[in-house]
Amino acid sequence: MADFDENAVRAIVRDVLNKLGSGEIKSFNIGSGRSDNNGIFDDVDEAASAAFDAFKALSKGGFAARQKITDAVKDVTVSRAREWGEFEFEETKIGKLEHKIGKLEIIKGVPGTEWIRPDAWSGDNGITHEEYAPYGVIGAITPVTHSIPTIAGNIVNMVAAGNAIVVNPHPGGVKSAVKAVSEFNRVIEKTTGIKNLVCCMAHPTLETFDAICKNPNIAIMCITGGPGVVSAAMKSGKKSICAGPGNPPVIVDDTVDLDKAARETIEGGAFDNNLLCVGEKEIFVLDKVADEFARALERNGGFRISGSALDRLTSEVFERKGDKFSLKRTLVGKDPQKLAEAAGTACPKETRILFAETDRNHPFVIEEQMMPMIPIVRVGSFEEAVDAAKRAEHNYRHSAIIHSLNVERMTLMARELNTTVFVKNGPSTAGLGLGGEGYLSYSIATTTGEGISNPKTFTRKRRCVMAGNLNIF
Ligand code: NAD
Repeated sequence: MADFDENAVRAIVRDVLNKLGSGEIKSFNIGSGRSDNNGIFDDVDEAASAAFDAFKALSKGGFAARQKITDAVKDVTVSRAREWGEFEFEETKIGKLEHKIGKLEIIKGVPGTEWIRPDAWSGDNGITHEEYAPYGVIGAITPVTHSIPTIAGNIVNMVAAGNAIVVNPHPGGVKSAVKAVSEFNRVIEKTTGIKNLVCCMAHPTLETFDAICKNPNIAIMCITGGPGVVSAAMKSGKKSICAGPGNPPVIVDDTVDLDKAARETIEGGAFDNNLLCVGEKEIFVLDKVADEFARALERNGGFRISGSALDRLTSEVFERKGDKFSLKRTLVGKDPQKLAEAAGTACPKETRILFAETDRNHPFVIEEQMMPMIPIVRVGSFEEAVDAAKRAEHNYRHSAIIHSLNVERMTLMARELNTTVFVKNGPSTAGLGLGGEGYLSYSIATTTGEGISNPKTFTRKRRCVMAGNLNIF
């Protein structure tokens, strides 16, 4: 072993600490192997290899380590909710500040290790256990609409199931992702000694996505995003759990309290300026109650636009290519006041959504607009409403909402749309355990069918059998 001078080492450490304190050293060498970079990497292979080592360390720590980590991640998310919410709002400039903070404060609703329980059989032929085992390292692709909440929720679910993670965040939310992941690693290391359990790409690109798809240390991927990334992941050859896009339709019929239906539609659709994938995106209302429903929207924070204001907003929001429209991103997640301005008008500061009467083929009906402007479409019958809603939902099988007291109509809509989340007589957010029963997740695996993700979503089933008559009764 080489000799070393203890005093010389102390002097070097003191010097480095002084420089750090004075700001002379501004950052660590990001991505340089296993150094203390708090999980932030430039290179996918290095990140995956560090995460794989962390996965092995987590396996050694057992359920106790998983529990400590998920508790610590929840605690730090809640305690940093305001700071991180403000940071993400400043970085992404979309949504509403109070909802950015709120989405972090509710992390406690995401389920953890209590979901990992074996199934067991015992009988004349012995005993059999089916265990929910981890995959290893999971590649998580996260959206700009909820950068830190998705990462925090994914960590709780995935680590509760025994996995490590490599995150490729949306470039528009990468600073927020890096800030939160660094802190998550700091608390994880402090509570368990495990480093780099959550690795994050410092410069996420399509190339880093591709490298995650190809890396042998990354067992599966979890995609939370729109149609492009879902389709890329499904073609990658790696198993992908896909929480894909939505365009949730709402049907309002003539059996309900229209004020309640309007209030709840606005509550869900206005949340975070309609960035939620479950959020109300278009409304089909029976003709005989349409006028009264529009007035109810106005009474509850909705502001109606029409004619040239609607045309102007449509051309600001969508780009036309032949008979198809695509969403320009400039007004995504902006306040209704900003949308009204873009429409050449003005709305009161209390306005929570804009709405406009349109036909069922309007781009605001067909495209996932992700902003607080919701089209309402009159329909002559409930069956017509279901047909139009089905078309607008694009078979994404994501979410749908109905306001009706007629159970047969509820059943018809449920059968026809076949969505992962179906909310009756409440805001869309009730489908995420917020004012409805059930648990919370920020990744709703719609495309691949696992549903609202939970720790079991990120496990492999393994059967363990002891044969023979072991009957003790
Ligand atoms: P997005 O599709 O633009 O980006 C999502 C992620 O995929 C980002 O990390 C992005 O960098 C990456 N990405 C995009 N295209 C890619 C490609 N071709 N190859 C590789 N990576 C690619 O979506 P967004 O604007 O960040 O988020 C909004 C979308 O996500 C909406 O469609 C919304 O419905 C959906 N979403 C779904 C859920 C769910 O749980 N199902 C949750 C949140 C958001």
